[in-house]
Parts: sequence; structure tokens; C-alpha cells
Amino acid sequence: MYMASIISVQNLKKQFQVGGGLFEKKEFVNAVVDVSFDIKQGETFSLVGESGCGKSTTGRLITRLIDPTAGKILVNGQDVANAKYGELTELRETVQMIFQDPYASLNPRMKVKDLIAEPLVIHTKFSKQERERLVYEMLEVVGLNVEQANRYAHEFSGGQRQRIGIARALITKPKLIIADEPVSALDVSIQSQILNLLKRLQQEFNLSYLFISHDLSVVEHISHRVGVMYLGTIVEQGEKDAIFNNPQHPYTQALLSSVPIADPTLRREKIILKGDIPNPKNPPSGCTFHTRCPYAMDICKKDIPVMEQVNGKQAVACHLMNGIKEQAQV
Ligand code: SF4
Repeated sequence: MYMASIISVQNLKKQFQVGGGLFEKKEFVNAVVDVSFDIKQGETFSLVGESGCGKSTTGRLITRLIDPTAGKILVNGQDVANAKYGELTELRETVQMIFQDPYASLNPRMKVKDLIAEPLVIHTKFSKQERERLVYEMLEVVGLNVEQANRYAHEFSGGQRQRIGIARALITKPKLIIADEPVSALDVSIQSQILNLLKRLQQEFNLSYLFISHDLSVVEHISHRVGVMYLGTIVEQGEKDAIFNNPQHPYTQALLSSVPIADPTLRREKIILKGDIPNPKNPPSGCTFHTRCPYAMDICKKDIPVMEQVNGKQAVACHLMNGIKEQAQV
């Protein structure tokens, strides 16, 4: 099913300056510390983690809504991480974004047909008639109808607005959609409609998704592969089934322990993590999870664990894995 990588993100970093006013000390926050992953054609890769873990910042870096501090973003083999605004044609043609709150991203004074056509006006030379034809086609693709084209965004429900957001993202025929919490503002029944729509569109257009969510049930439903983020770093990544059925990193295990299981005969023991997520302005040394990890060892306070493949399906950054591998070699 999968083909070549649509995008390859390598050692991406983003540091924000906070403070630094006239009488303030300059401080820096590492929102994204060292993130690497590939997404293949037709694949959904999800980034999951608690609020503030850097997953949304990663999405915004890839679309160049914000500029990275370091690292590479290879789109069809071309590095766009440091490209100037005028040189981002490849990125704009390949990558589009769907937002959590489509209403905030839709101009209330524009008719739906103009909202959906806007990216065509910016990025293509299609005539007005051609744009209109494409917009009407796209309305049907996302489950809206042509009669709704002359209405305004406030006349639609939350789910319908997200369909408008999806139509707007798809109209230029991108290959990769970055969907940042696209269903978290919707009712549960509407969530599944939008998730099923995204799945159908993936099949129809061979789309790739970078899906960003804090909701593990949603991630389990939509993903092929998953990356689990903690304090700006991916701590575990791999195939969805491996991550959900056999999590290896203590943080992934704790996150998943709070997800209800559909089978009432099965129970999961809930792992309660001690403390809160540390302040990213002053992250813990070594493994940044050591202040909350039930298995923390001395080495965890000193050495940053390296991401290593632990089996054919998942890679983990944890010193416990070294012990397991050494035992396996004895
Ligand atoms: Fe826990 Fe140490 Fe593994 Fe970090 S490296 S997750 S602190 S065991």
C-alpha cells in the first residue's frame, strides 16, 4: 500500500525566546527538541502526547507557519526548513493544514464557495468558471451540497464547518494534510463522521496525513503509525498496533493505561504518573521523563537515551531498552 516518503523530518528543533524586555532576563524554551520521522504516501502518522509536548508546534514548523531553529524538512527530497518565503512553492503545493477550530480560520464575511476557492486564487491560474466547477465538485466530495455554496460559515454546524475546512485544504490537491486536533472540538458522534470522511478521502486521493491529537482513541482509529511525544521529543514511535498492544516506553505505557478497552471482560491497570509535566524552560537532565518515571535509574538522570529500534515494529528512547537488549544478547 505504501510508497515513497512524502515528507522526511530530521532532527527538527524549535526554541522560542520568552521575556527579554527592557528589564527582563532573556529565557529560552525548547518547544521541539529533536524530532525525526518520515510519512509515506497514503499513510497516517500521528503525533500524540499531553498538551504542551510540542506536537502542534511540530505541525506548524512543517508548514513553515513558524520557522525552525534547526533540522531538515525534506518535501519530495527538497529541504524546505530554511527556504525563503518565495521558495516555498513545493511545500505549498504538497502540504495543507486542517485546524482544530475551522470557524476561527474561516473569514465570516466570505461565502463558502469563495472560502473554498481562495487557495486556488492564491496558488493557481484557473479561470473563475474553472474555480467554481472545482469548488462545486469539492463540496460534494466532502459531503456538502452545491446549494450551500452561497451561505456563510456561521450558518453551518461545527461538523459542517470542519467539512468546509477540509474542502479548503483539499482544493489544491495536496499530497500531505496536517490535521491539528481536527475533531477535538466536535461532539463524539460528529467526530466519527469526520474521521470516516478523512479515511475515505485518504483512499480516494491516496493522501498522507500528519494527525496531531491528545486523544488516544481517535489516534487508534485513524493511524497507521504513531509517535509519542514528551517535552518536545518523540520517546516511542512505530506501527499503531505495536504501540497500542505492546507499548515499550514507560510514558507510552502510562498514557495508554488510561484508555478504556472496548471488551468489558478485559481490564487495564491504570498507571498514575507522579507530579506534573516539568517546565520546558528548565527541563530535567538526562531522560526528561525521569522525574515521573516509575523505573528511573541513576543513568536516567545523567544520560539522554537514544532512540533505538527494539523490534521490527517500534523504536524507543529509554535506558531500560539497553538492559533488555543486553540480556537478550547474553
Ligand atoms: Fe524511565 Fe529511565 Fe527509561 Fe527515562 S530512560 S523512561 S527515566 S527508565
